[in-house]
Amino acid sequence: MNRFLSAAVICLLLPMFFAGCGAPAQYSENTFYAMNTFVTVRLSVSDTNGTPLSKNRLAQIHKDCEDLVRAVENSISATVADSDTARFNASADGINNGGVFFTKLLTQSFSIAEATENAFHPALRPLSVLWDFGGEGYVPTSDEISDLLCHIDLSFVRMEGSAVYKSDPALQIDFGAIAKGYAAALVRDYLQTTECRGGLLSLGGNVALFGEKEDGSPYKVGLTDPFSSDRVLGYLHRTDGFVSVSGSYERYFEKDGVRYHHILDPRTGSPADSGLVSAAVIAQDGTLADALSTALFVMGVQDAIAFYECGVYDFEAILVTQDGRIIVTEGIAASFDCTASYTVQISSSEAET
Ligand code: ADP
Ligand code: MG
Repeated sequence: MNRFLSAAVICLLLPMFFAGCGAPAQYSENTFYAMNTFVTVRLSVSDTNGTPLSKNRLAQIHKDCEDLVRAVENSISATVADSDTARFNASADGINNGGVFFTKLLTQSFSIAEATENAFHPALRPLSVLWDFGGEGYVPTSDEISDLLCHIDLSFVRMEGSAVYKSDPALQIDFGAIAKGYAAALVRDYLQTTECRGGLLSLGGNVALFGEKEDGSPYKVGLTDPFSSDRVLGYLHRTDGFVSVSGSYERYFEKDGVRYHHILDPRTGSPADSGLVSAAVIAQDGTLADALSTALFVMGVQDAIAFYECGVYDFEAILVTQDGRIIVTEGIAASFDCTASYTVQISSSEAET
């Protein structure tokens, strides 16, 4: 039996798009496989004036979205041969012709790493490869981990326009925790330039919302219950923006009865043991939402709430702990409906405990 939960499992349920009572669905949907996951784009079939879009026009918009996601993947995936990331990782001292996706994402990654004190760290690839999360899974020795930890240092990287240099040949970039959010943000930006009235994109744990539903009501985004991934933890009512979820249930392997998940604590080089089973981030910046969901997962409740309260970024969060509590930040509490029987706390009450 395959012990891995495929990354293809969509960890956010698709939002309820048009919740009409028995009315035919007023949307056009396309699902494809890219970035190691299933991607679904749902579009309203009318424009902002309510005029129907032609089938050809809808097909063109779907194609543009798919092309964009594939272009991002081909540019920044570490596992696509000849991507900028793969070329950078294979090089001894860097590349002098990084494309715009690569350099922009690297720049944003660096600033999020700094703001999160490296809880989000874009250079963990040597460790992820060692743990073999993409294969059968391997539990490294502490010596193997410490040998690699000394190469996990962003001060070894220097950027000059499209040139990105590294002073340590072993340093390798992994955008796995941010790339899907970046692609989702680019697709949402593109969709907003079209005449399409509204819609959404679901990309491996990232949901992007744009425009409005036919009836003007908010979208309903279902969050997966991390303790039972075929159940819903609750629904978020949103009119726009991005929702991103990172969870230990998404990808893992088991050895000798111990479960090892794919989100690493850069301080230890091992799967983060922060007391959380999932972290959802809601933000207006899709790239940020993806990176922060991983960072908050690594931080754990106390540090994540302190980070939220320090206000360096504008976001909201829903954290689920191993002992079955849900901590919701104040700004999102009113729009989150918990449907599971867990204790829900608002972050300010958590800070007092
Ligand atoms: P998923 O990719 O399953 O949606 P995440 O967005 O949390 O989940 O990203 C996890 C991926 O990011 C891992 O598979 C690995 O490639 C990389 N990664 C693991 N830990 C970290 C971390 N602390 N910071 C940045 N990237 C990480
Ligand atoms: Mg992430």
